[in-house]
Amino acid sequence: MLYPWLQSSFKEFSGAYLQGRLPSSVLIAGSRDLGVLELALECARFYLCSNKQGDAACGNCRSCLSFADGAHPDFVVVRSSLKEEADAGLDVVNDPKLVLQEEASSGNARRSVRIDSIRKLIDWLNLSHVGGEGKVALVSDAHTMPEGAANSILKSFEEPPPHTLIILTAKSLESLLPTIRSRAYKIKLPAPSMEQALAFMQPYGYSLEQVKIALSLAQQAPLGALHMLQDGTVAAALQIAWQLEQTLASDHDIELIDALSELSPARQVTILGELIRELLKYKAGFALEQLPLLTAQRAVALSRLPAEHLFNALQELQHFALPSPFLAPRAPLALLRAWVQALAVLPQRAARPAR
Ligand SMILES: [Zn+2]
Repeated sequence: MLYPWLQSSFKEFSGAYLQGRLPSSVLIAGSRDLGVLELALECARFYLCSNKQGDAACGNCRSCLSFADGAHPDFVVVRSSLKEEADAGLDVVNDPKLVLQEEASSGNARRSVRIDSIRKLIDWLNLSHVGGEGKVALVSDAHTMPEGAANSILKSFEEPPPHTLIILTAKSLESLLPTIRSRAYKIKLPAPSMEQALAFMQPYGYSLEQVKIALSLAQQAPLGALHMLQDGTVAAALQIAWQLEQTLASDHDIELIDALSELSPARQVTILGELIRELLKYKAGFALEQLPLLTAQRAVALSRLPAEHLFNALQELQHFALPSPFLAPRAPLALLRAWVQALAVLPQRAARPAR
């Protein structure tokens, strides 16, 4: 069952298919945390189903059954991969379960859609299809394609083999070459409403406070939020926020720095980034209910930091978040330390929040 916030995007796809408006390529833009892969797989399943029930796949035909088993002969996925993974043949698969299980590691600089994988794909596209509906290739993380791979894909767009659909997923429409964008049918995933996000989280049994923090940390993407609840990022964020408050009261930062240094750089960036965004929102007059990491006391204490300082810190963090082989792994730590020191030297009479 497709997540509720993906339904309208799926209807766009199935509508275009049923009305014969679908070109040979579709570009779906959105993050993995929003479910971009789930949607792409559902579009593929529908396209290949040989007994479509209106705008849905039947689930029972030979095509739907082999799709579910991860053994559909007319379906492949080219994934972003590390060199070792590509060497082991893990870059081209046709099992939807494998695709969904993949670690959400698109932030990893070395992982990309490899040109050899695209060559394998193009050879596969030129083979004739086995079933009656044609064939579907899915390229996930297409924004990580090097230029050579993108050019090879473009060639197959120019003369697509008949009854072939290529689905590309990417983090945003802008992250792909204009020449690829212009040929494809474009679908951009909407963010879910707060009700949809809360309803999705409800069966997992977390408290409303935890869920709200998770959604904020994940920029409202429900799958990302769930992941952060399960891997301890939310608990760590709460601890860091609490520890920061203690530090400001006690004037020594050793526990805070210890707590932060136990986290991976990616988590440090996520947590500090959200703290800064919430502080900026607080300064802009947002109500505390919309700022799940801030208590009233925390907000007053931390908002002594000037907005300019916070904007700079946010920019620095974004820089850390970029995948780069030159990343100094302790950089967010240094930022926080400077931050605490700046607060410590700010005169107490400035404690009134500068809102
Ligand atoms: Zn079917």
